[in-house]
Amino acid sequence: MDKLKKETINQIKGISKKMIENLNNDEIFTVYDLLYYFPYRYEFYEVVNINTALDNEKVTVVGQVMTEPVFYYYKKNHSRLTFSISINNQIIKIIAFNRDFLRNKLQKEMFVTITGKFERNKAQITAHELKLKPLENDRIEPVYSFKNLNKTYFLNILKKAYFQYQTFLNDDLPLSIKQQYRLISINDLFMFAHFPVNNEQVKQVVRRVKYEELLKFQLKMLYLKNRDHKENNVCIKNFNKKLISNFIVKLPFQLTNDQMDVTGQILKDLRSPFQMNRLLQGDVGSGKTVVAAIALYACKLSNNQSCLMAPTEILAEQHFFYLKETFNYLNLKIELLTSSTTSKSRNKILSNLVKGEVDILVGTHALISVDVNFNKLGLIIVDEQHRFGVNQRKILKDKGETPDSLFLSATPIPRTLALTAFGDMDVSSIKEMPKGRKLIKTYVIRTKLEKRLLKFIDEIVQLNQQVYVVTPLIEESEKIDLQNALEVYEKYKNHFSRYKVGLLHGKMTKNEKEAVMNEFQNNELQILISTTVVEVGVNVLNATLMIIIDAHRFGLAQLHQLRGRVGRSNYQSYCILVSDYENDKTMERLELLTKTYSGFEIAEADLRLRGPGDFFGSRQSGLPKFKMADIVNDYHILDVARNDAHMIISSGELFTNPLYFALRIYVETELVKNNELFD
Ligand code: ADP
Ligand code: MG
Repeated sequence: MDKLKKETINQIKGISKKMIENLNNDEIFTVYDLLYYFPYRYEFYEVVNINTALDNEKVTVVGQVMTEPVFYYYKKNHSRLTFSISINNQIIKIIAFNRDFLRNKLQKEMFVTITGKFERNKAQITAHELKLKPLENDRIEPVYSFKNLNKTYFLNILKKAYFQYQTFLNDDLPLSIKQQYRLISINDLFMFAHFPVNNEQVKQVVRRVKYEELLKFQLKMLYLKNRDHKENNVCIKNFNKKLISNFIVKLPFQLTNDQMDVTGQILKDLRSPFQMNRLLQGDVGSGKTVVAAIALYACKLSNNQSCLMAPTEILAEQHFFYLKETFNYLNLKIELLTSSTTSKSRNKILSNLVKGEVDILVGTHALISVDVNFNKLGLIIVDEQHRFGVNQRKILKDKGETPDSLFLSATPIPRTLALTAFGDMDVSSIKEMPKGRKLIKTYVIRTKLEKRLLKFIDEIVQLNQQVYVVTPLIEESEKIDLQNALEVYEKYKNHFSRYKVGLLHGKMTKNEKEAVMNEFQNNELQILISTTVVEVGVNVLNATLMIIIDAHRFGLAQLHQLRGRVGRSNYQSYCILVSDYENDKTMERLELLTKTYSGFEIAEADLRLRGPGDFFGSRQSGLPKFKMADIVNDYHILDVARNDAHMIISSGELFTNPLYFALRIYVETELVKNNELFD
């Protein structure tokens, strides 16, 4: 296998310069790249009886050319080809575009195979495939994603390469696994994938490729999990459990059952000699902060330092004041470090930190600066963890010997995704909200009801409460986003001249944004217009109305996040989704939000409706691109693969058993590759 990865395609006998260039353009450089360039789907051709073929459906037919083909040229490089064929004495007209290359090849009386859209009343087929021979048994054709290649040439080269390098082809999957699941051999895989002769072969290819992809992926994740889960006695935090209980009893509220459960999981991790690497997920407002506070306290009781990192200055400040207040009677030394900290107090904090005279350091990205050194860092907590890169989290972690890590996330992730995207972490979930929370009344309305909406806004502001208006999200166009926001802003400013209306958008500087947020926080602004580019990540208790314009443009999970900005106080809160949705499906999607308030349920629905790629947004996903596997639809294979990976890793056999040698090499090379890719 190694050889195939080193051997460039230039070494394939009989390959032309042009072909090398074309393959390179499609990112095929090595023999390995070529041989493992699998089709992403298959096209099945089956000759249909034209008499029973359905109108407007895709059909494949075989017929004899009855008229001279006519080429008609228009524009530059465009041509239309027409001719008639006879199928069982029926004459069908064929239209095809840009088939200039058939000019001297397609002739009267030939038998041809045509695939395309059939229009019954015109007795016509618009062909997208045209073969100059009758269909034999090549009824299944692989479809590839390449852009620059001609399939026939590609398959030709592929075959050449296969025979030249066959002896170097070895199988990453050990025989035992293949036998267990009756998976095809690597040689069959190769032949069946690219040159299938029947359906069954395609099925076997798909089965094997999916399993292999998912097994490798899970091996990598579990390997990481093991690696980040080092066993070290330094990790053992001996705290007095009684003091923790006392602290919990003294809280101004009773913890929910879920909060108790996750607290238990975290405390157990802290006491164990294994390094904690845990994700704590729960909806906005589910009460993650107090759980974090308990962990920070336990860490202090075991004579370790800890830190809490948040993505914005406002959030860091909020946490700082919350901890100060909560630990008020306990005499803990807590400090705040952000980019606004004056250099004088910064120096003081840093020197105290090194001496071990700070217990808890709260802050923003400022925490990962090189001159921030702890005396004995035992726990790092990262809030809104997805806002930080993998490297940033790692830098923070590296400031301690083997600190425990806890990552907080308000984007609930369905189990299937959590297992995969965060397969390297343990996951704790808070699913239940604190008692007595008022549900945010949610409605879907059409734009034509704007007058009533404006009136409602007025009523809310009259109550001395505040309003968010989120303007449409236009994918990949910050410019239009801004335009939309400006328009709405102007409109609202005119309409609500008695009130103060603010604007927040992605083109503003950090300071400008914070200034606006501060004004909103202090109720100096009653209505805040904002693009989603700006995550409105703060706690404005007095805001009770969230309006989202063109709501159908957002994912469900995202709408739910936005809705979570209100409903933070005892006042009744509202979320109004404005949408001129065109169909029932969109309607249904939005209506779901009016019935469900659980981020977990909404996330499941979003995942089902939009798939994993969209779920995270492409950049954050951390999911590899699978050739055939799909972690949502193939989750049963995923489960099997995960168990197998677990067995292979936990038994230590990945490193000792020669059977798994190829898989081990795979995991190791992947990790090297990924480290380069991260951030
Ligand atoms: P999030 O999970 O979004 O970070 P927070 O930790 O900020 O949520 O909690 C939201 C609010 O709920 C806070 O004001 C917090 O004091 C309160 N809270 C947390 N847990 C409970 C509980 N068990 N009962 C009542 N209120 C709670
Ligand atoms: Mg929070």
